[in-house]
Amino acid sequence: MNYFAPVRDMEFVINELAGLAGIAALPGFEEATPDLVNAVLEEAGKFSSEVLAPLNKTGDREGSRLVDGKVVVPTGFTEAYEQFVECGWLGLGKDVDFGGQGLPHLVVTAVEEMWNASNLSFSLCPLLTSGAVAALQRHASDDLKATYVEKMVNGHWAGTMNLTEPQAGSDLAAIRTEAVPEGDHYRLRGQKIFITWGDQEMTENVIHLVLARLPDAPAGVRGISLFLVPKYMVEEDGGIGARNDIFVVSLEHKLGVHASPTCTIALGDTEGAVGYLIGEAHSGLACMFTMMNAARLGTGLQGVAIADRAYQQAVAYAKERVQGSSPGTEGRVTIIHHADVRRMLMLMRSQTEAMRAVAYVTAALLDQAGHSPDKQQRQASQQRVDLMTPIAKAWCTEVAQEVTTLGVQVHGGMGFIEDTGSAQHYRDGRITTIYEGTTGIQAGDLVGRKILRDEGQGMRSLLDDIRAFEDSMPDGDDRLAVLRRELKSGREALGEVTEWLLESAKTDENAAGSVSVNLLMLMGTVIGGWQMARAATLATGKLDSGAADSSFYETKLTTARFYAEQIMPRVRAYRDAVTAGSENIMALSEQQF
Ligand SMILES: Cc1cc2nc3c(=O)[nH]c(=O)nc-3n(C[C@H](O)[C@H](O)[C@H](O)COP(=O)(O)OP(=O)(O)OC[C@H]3O[C@@H](n4cnc5c(N)ncnc54)[C@H](O)[C@@H]3O)c2cc1C
Repeated sequence: MNYFAPVRDMEFVINELAGLAGIAALPGFEEATPDLVNAVLEEAGKFSSEVLAPLNKTGDREGSRLVDGKVVVPTGFTEAYEQFVECGWLGLGKDVDFGGQGLPHLVVTAVEEMWNASNLSFSLCPLLTSGAVAALQRHASDDLKATYVEKMVNGHWAGTMNLTEPQAGSDLAAIRTEAVPEGDHYRLRGQKIFITWGDQEMTENVIHLVLARLPDAPAGVRGISLFLVPKYMVEEDGGIGARNDIFVVSLEHKLGVHASPTCTIALGDTEGAVGYLIGEAHSGLACMFTMMNAARLGTGLQGVAIADRAYQQAVAYAKERVQGSSPGTEGRVTIIHHADVRRMLMLMRSQTEAMRAVAYVTAALLDQAGHSPDKQQRQASQQRVDLMTPIAKAWCTEVAQEVTTLGVQVHGGMGFIEDTGSAQHYRDGRITTIYEGTTGIQAGDLVGRKILRDEGQGMRSLLDDIRAFEDSMPDGDDRLAVLRRELKSGREALGEVTEWLLESAKTDENAAGSVSVNLLMLMGTVIGGWQMARAATLATGKLDSGAADSSFYETKLTTARFYAEQIMPRVRAYRDAVTAGSENIMALSEQQF
């Protein structure tokens, strides 16, 4: 089965909801013509289906291994990576000055959804390289950029993100890796853990971005600096030089993404690993945030992708598996005839569509933030991206947990058996709420930095936009009534919890932490509902004007209405949980647990 061809929904979301035409009209995106975008999606669909997808299950079974200090990737991965590089896929959205193709984030987002859906483990490698390129372009010296960026953009060298240490996970203030100045460079010593694609032999070089402390660094996050540490030193002429003192010492055995090597890395066990400062001393976390923000949106997209893959697989199974009988159908039926199986498939489908819309609309905002000729528009778009980033990351990945677990459930006992692949999506998807900042950390970012810090200003502007959309919905159209009603109710609940938080945080120091995840889930659900209401409104317009492809628009109207009826009521439960406050969350003493 071809799971990864650019599905109709992706085209709809890119063009109609995220407004590709408007994005393509921004300066710098002249290349993004509809024909080119369609051709890119078509080719990406083929590459995902034909090259990456067949390696997903075998990669899971084989896993990556450490043999004589070298990371050995599963069969076929090296050849697939070579093809990936030959096709220039890594450069799709990168700066043309560094050999990229300069296409909008919006287009890259759709392409990356396909990589992720077809083979999440493989996709993590280019995803991290992309994040490292973004950080280098923004913060590195011209010399570093000239030496490293182009080879990363063309995929010959890969990038990694080295933050985590045994005592420093969510709390990066606890980082201990040391960097001591030596001439024009630094010597780094320390240990990093859980480093995704921390090494491999598919690329000629691996460029690690490493957080470490200088000897005079102040304590805490203000004392962290960012360094570029190459696996192999780079000669004056750009060629590969001596091996640097940075080595993988072990790989983790883990629940999912088995093909992606998760490495423990030793820096400087002998002479010290040579590293180069990126940006200013002690401002490493800010530099790394460029990489982390890109990776957070990328991780949210992994949630969308794995959910869609789980859905497509569940539908295929539900159409084949014969079991029981159902009202109005003669004899034994395939399980898709059962109302409860329909319920599960609709939960999977409608939420995946809502997540896709949220992720792509955020990508379009990112394009506006970077390319709009109007400064105010750039700032407003960036403010909205900042507000949306924890939603795109944490809400999409949390919902993906529900969708992938339903995928297992649709398969019954076979879902629990590895052969169907359904269990792999469930296992692979499980990491997405953990890395790049757990859901709790994203929710803390949302309430602390994005709501309390500007006293709710960004949120109120979002609420105004939702309200303006509600007012623009055609009056008296019965097909849209439930969407309108639920969106209004959801927007009001979001406004209510925002004001509750702003008020409660003044007197209760546990308020923000206690309610943050429920608030985040409420917000994600409402924004998903907003996008589904937009989609449904567009669909009714298309149907009324007799557009071709009426089946797609009828389906969209139904999935949107289902979302309004079956998902939006969750907003009320989240609201009640938020406004119940922290009292009983915090009431037990530590001993009482
Ligand atoms: C497969 C995999 C790949 C990874 N890839 C990379 C990588 O490439 N590079 C890299 O640097 N790291 C990577 N990581 C590390 C990952 O980012 C961390 O595991 C993650 O940030 C959580 O840190 P931790 O594991 O130390 O958990 P902890 O920080 O110990 O958290 C444990 C629990 O406590 C909660 N918690 C902790 N602090 C707070 C707080 N302040 N407020 C509220 N709740 C809190 C968390 O939400 C979580 O539920 C990877 C991890 C895995 C498993």
